[in-house]
Amino acid sequence: MPRSTVVRPEEIRRHNLSQVLQQIHRRGELTRAELTTSLGLNRSTIGDLVGDLVRQGVVDEHVPGGGEKAGRPSHVVAPRPDGPYVLAVEVEVERIVSAAVGLGGRVHVRHETVVAEPGPAAVVTQIARDARRLAARMPASATLVGVGVSVPGTIQRADGLVVHAPNLRWRNVPFGARLRTRLGADLDVRIGNNANLGALAEHQRGAARAMRDVVYIVGSVGVGGGVIVDGAEMYGAGGYAGEIGHIMLNPDGPECHCGSNGCVETYLGEHALLREAGVADDAFGPAAVAGVLADAERGVPPAADAVATVATSLGRTLAILINVFNPEAIVVGDTLAEILRIERPRVEREVERRAMAAARGCTALLTPDLGRDSSLIGASELAFQALFAT
Ligand SMILES: [Zn+2]
Repeated sequence: MPRSTVVRPEEIRRHNLSQVLQQIHRRGELTRAELTTSLGLNRSTIGDLVGDLVRQGVVDEHVPGGGEKAGRPSHVVAPRPDGPYVLAVEVEVERIVSAAVGLGGRVHVRHETVVAEPGPAAVVTQIARDARRLAARMPASATLVGVGVSVPGTIQRADGLVVHAPNLRWRNVPFGARLRTRLGADLDVRIGNNANLGALAEHQRGAARAMRDVVYIVGSVGVGGGVIVDGAEMYGAGGYAGEIGHIMLNPDGPECHCGSNGCVETYLGEHALLREAGVADDAFGPAAVAGVLADAERGVPPAADAVATVATSLGRTLAILINVFNPEAIVVGDTLAEILRIERPRVEREVERRAMAAARGCTALLTPDLGRDSSLIGASELAFQALFAT
């Protein structure tokens, strides 16, 4: 064997430590026996690795009470509340949410700021302020190990360049680089698309846990998506995959900000919903959307017809996704989840008509378990990837 291919013992140890950490992060409290079984390592190796993590202040161990008659109980390994944490941030059009998230996905503290059409400089300043504010509320021994930020736009995965975030009105903003400079060069800062991160979170901790093939579609003002293929996130060559909102449904349809016409977003986005309901564009906003949904729920026209029209387009879109990806589930989020809730039979009828029979029988239509926090939790998962890569 050539010398360069020999794996050194310290590399194996580092790899095994990362595996133990990932198990505890994914599954929460685990016994040493469970770690031994799931990682296929022997008991003494697991004991050594856990001992290392205890000394580093990452996990705690305790002996469960009450199990004496069953012999010596296996030690329970759990993340320490004052151990390492990440800063997760969700940048939206009207608000910035920041949270300190520990191993196991536990949100320790969070902070929300209302903003109006935030520019990049203001967002960088706000995140730096939130990082200090959250750190002050964490125990002194807790260390920040990474930063993950969700942005509603097209993101260059390698360096966090925001190519285009239409609803924030950002174009070619070197957001990752700016944030890295502001927060300190040593810190691992990762930027992700909000829908990709929502998919990641719902797959790791939400409605699609333990599934291998999942599509996530989220729609409010814009429509985005994320795809999990065989258990892994699908990013594409540049990180731009999953733009479900820009699948073209009708070449003669309304103009889209992406330069095309008749994109899914122009039929499923909140602007389309309000247009169908006859609401003037200058009345656009969360209150108007909530009003249309409430009226539709009571069957009041024209809101009920508007929701029915959007539901039909949603069914067509889901049929395309089912034919292309043959997923075990499609998780439908945000305002589109409300459309599905109000008009599920109509959505399902359209899926029945348009998707190929073999594939459509495989797919469950679900709504997110994590509610509005899908992208925030996804941002924390992105940040933790840095810790597990070491
Ligand atoms: Zn488009």
